[in-house]
Amino acid sequence: MGDFHEGPRRLGGGRACCAYCGLPVDRVATLEHDWVLLEPDMEPLAHIVPAEHRWIEVSDGRVTVYGVCPPVQDQRCRIEHRLACSAQPLPDLWPWLTILRTENGRRVERRADSAQEWPDAG
Ligand SMILES: [Zn+2]
Repeated sequence: MGDFHEGPRRLGGGRACCAYCGLPVDRVATLEHDWVLLEPDMEPLAHIVPAEHRWIEVSDGRVTVYGVCPPVQDQRCRIEHRLACSAQPLPDLWPWLTILRTENGRRVERRADSAQEWPDAG
């Protein structure tokens, strides 16, 4: 979770800027003695956020990944800025969908191999 080596240093918690896009982010301590850059000013419902990416604040102001699954209906959460950052590639949010896409890619290749009668579009 500490994947922001090029991020701001020695600023402590609070408002910082994304090293990739420059937009303001919230730099928050985690229960794992690390830091996470959270998207400011938004708290989506937890159930619309992929399970490993739901951050919630605990009583001392630090954050941790919300582990209740399925989430409580009206539970809100924070998300990492990197999920919303236009300057960073989107991580693998739904692993089972990525597996399905990979498998479908193989199916397409197999169909192409067995469809020799198709006219050459060249
Ligand atoms: Zn950014």
